[in-house]
Amino acid sequence: MKKLTPMLQQYFAIKAQYPDCVLLFRLGDFYEMFGTDAELASQILHIALTARNKGTENEIAMCGFPHFSADQYTKKLIRAGHKVAICDQISDPNLPGIVERDVTRVITPGTLLSDDEDETKLRLLAAVSYQGQNWEVLFCNVSTGELMPGFGTTLPDILEQLHIRQPTEILLAKEHEEKVQSLLRQSNIIATVTGLSGVYEAEGMIRHYIERTQKSATNYLHQELHREAKTIAIDEMTLRNLEIVRNNHDGKIYGSLLDTINATITAAGFRLLHTMLLHPLADANAIMYRQDIVAGFTEESIVRKSIQNLLKQVHDIEKIIAKIVLRSGSPRDLGNLSQTLNLLPNLYQALQKSLKPLIRELAETINYQGPLTELLNKALVSDTLPLTPQEGHWLQSGFDSELDEIRRRVSHTQEWLREYEEMEKQKTGIEQLKVRFNTISGFYIEISKTSLKNIALEKIAHLTRKQTLVNVERYSSVELHNFESEYLAAEEKMKARQNVLFSHLCQQVLAEKDNLQKLAKNIALIDVFSSLAQIAEEYHYTRPEISIDNSLVIEEGKHPMIARKLGSSFVANDTILNHDQQQLILITGPNMGGKSTYLRQVALIEILFLIGSFVPAQKARLPLVDHIFTRIGAQDHLLRGMSTFMVEMSETANILRSATEKSLIILDEIGRGTSTYDGLSIAWAICDYLVHSVKAKTLFASHYHELIQVIEDLPHASNASVAIAEQADQITFLYKVVPGGIGKSYGLEVAKRAGLPPSVVQYARHILQELESGIPVPTQAKEDATLFSVPIAPVQSKLEQTLEQLDINTLSPIDALLLLKTWKEKLKQI
Ligand code: ADP
Repeated sequence: MKKLTPMLQQYFAIKAQYPDCVLLFRLGDFYEMFGTDAELASQILHIALTARNKGTENEIAMCGFPHFSADQYTKKLIRAGHKVAICDQISDPNLPGIVERDVTRVITPGTLLSDDEDETKLRLLAAVSYQGQNWEVLFCNVSTGELMPGFGTTLPDILEQLHIRQPTEILLAKEHEEKVQSLLRQSNIIATVTGLSGVYEAEGMIRHYIERTQKSATNYLHQELHREAKTIAIDEMTLRNLEIVRNNHDGKIYGSLLDTINATITAAGFRLLHTMLLHPLADANAIMYRQDIVAGFTEESIVRKSIQNLLKQVHDIEKIIAKIVLRSGSPRDLGNLSQTLNLLPNLYQALQKSLKPLIRELAETINYQGPLTELLNKALVSDTLPLTPQEGHWLQSGFDSELDEIRRRVSHTQEWLREYEEMEKQKTGIEQLKVRFNTISGFYIEISKTSLKNIALEKIAHLTRKQTLVNVERYSSVELHNFESEYLAAEEKMKARQNVLFSHLCQQVLAEKDNLQKLAKNIALIDVFSSLAQIAEEYHYTRPEISIDNSLVIEEGKHPMIARKLGSSFVANDTILNHDQQQLILITGPNMGGKSTYLRQVALIEILFLIGSFVPAQKARLPLVDHIFTRIGAQDHLLRGMSTFMVEMSETANILRSATEKSLIILDEIGRGTSTYDGLSIAWAICDYLVHSVKAKTLFASHYHELIQVIEDLPHASNASVAIAEQADQITFLYKVVPGGIGKSYGLEVAKRAGLPPSVVQYARHILQELESGIPVPTQAKEDATLFSVPIAPVQSKLEQTLEQLDINTLSPIDALLLLKTWKEKLKQI
């Protein structure tokens, strides 16, 4: 290569420091990318790829976009999993020589600050560390500064936590990068992995990384919850099986328990509700405290509604502080903070109207009386404020005398210009003369060519020509030139002063950071309590009692999500689990009969209870638990390298090993992935072990009706089943859970409902009768049953043929009805 230009030399020197980032290199009003960065970005961003030094040895690919679109393009690169280093001009571009440039911020998938609410709610940075034989994982929401420790000390624990929280970026010590990365791949965890050198514990990694990428302090990081009470861990399986924070269909929040019980108004309230569901309480007093407040807010719905109305105007304080610390704040953020602080007295008074002492106590937690409210009120105008401190008139007059003085000078402009224009009109005798300004040419005098034709040249001799356009000439003059310099200097001064004042205000906000973050949490808490109360009121949830004898009693319980969907057609069910009589219940009945729904509803009701919520039941008395275990359905973990049966067994093994008398266990089908006798014997032995050794409260759904007798013979275990009504070969699901097992699986009826061709169902019934009577199925029967051996398609096409031959144009309505009737009758005979 020939010698590079100084600009490209500078580019490569900076790029070498950020090899893993796409480097956005500021050139004038553009951000440019070069070489492989340009090739990559042009594809992701769909922007044209050009070249610099085209046709020479130094030809290099290049692409770019205007600096004001940086936000939108950066987000696209980040969403595609890349990191972006923003390299700005840091010296005055008007000075001679090459402009100094440096990276002012590195944006990565885990540190992207986004205003897109849905995204920031869950955009997390994680750090995984290994020290003193223990693994540790810590999550951080960089947009709000919340730190969330994960549970566990082993690598599988950590992987589980990563699965639960789904961070977008994971920090690791360089030496663990390879090992963990391959585990992540096996576990199907998709995140950008960043190796760090040097030994850190998890929090150190997060702080170091934010300092390095954001070039800012990290003193805004704080714990996400007031950890006032003990909590239990919800494992990944249970989270997934019960769809607690995400649905199983597409992994979104829609349709999850979180979505179903969410009526929060603020983003912080939503985040807190999400956290509460991941950390159910293990402390009766803490549960009762939350229940008391929720009860208060349901009884005093007028108080609650007025609070909820006020909450609509509350801004995300945690996010505003994070933005200020990370140098991404704007006057608009200060305005939003100010608006929120000004709202507090109203919120305080609304809470004080409550007759409940606990709610009035809550009022005290948001009774913020810092000096900041007044300062911001004095400083900021009340309009919508700009997104950069230099622009706009966002500071009140009287707040800063220096700014006022500069403004006076700038505001004289209009007056001076008017006078000057008048003077020039007289001097030149041109009535149409205009004095104008634009950002490219500055101030100028504009005279139309027609006017110029009619005047003597000496009239404009004092003017210097600046620019010629089609119809007009533009001029400058000594006075105008001097004025321009003065004006521009004043403008610059105004911008600089506004910048200084912005920084000063930000510092004042940061001095109050801890109080403001606490305040934000308390507002979020009030939002969550009102939300739980609103849901309780709207959907008739009731306050569960705390059981003192470890028993679980639910009267007319409902599955929160399915009942929401089905409304009044959902059939409520009772549940009793206790240690003297009924510690394990086996639920049998046909597929689609409602077994899984019933099992899940008990666990979901328990979780709602543990977060302090009311529950969808007529009445409930619920125990504290140390863990909720769920093993549901055949989960396909082939990606993790295990067969369905292996997964089923290892999940069950884990439950049998870890569960205690204080656990709640939900088992939906065990032993499905193997032969009937294998499966049945395993299920049998597990029931026995659960009753005699583990003694946990257990609900077990199974299609093995052979287990019914086993349960009869076990102490503290009972049979139940989902009721069905049988009528002339037709079954109706009643979804009612009743005592006693069902010794019949109704598989054929379900298959028929599912639309299996009638001939197949008919033949299956024939085989079943033979099997049940113990007579081997004669091969003749198979041969006779041509319907079985003939592929299914021709049978179906009989109907198709009839339909095809039918001429509906000549068919009268009455004939059509009669035809339908005959078909229905034929169908019954099958
Ligand atoms: P199973 O586990 O016995 O195969 P599910 O619990 O999956 O059955 O229920 C199948 C469907 O039946 C559900 O999707 C729901 O539409 C309906 N269902 C289940 N329980 C009830 C209920 N209690 N009330 C009304 N419909 C129900």
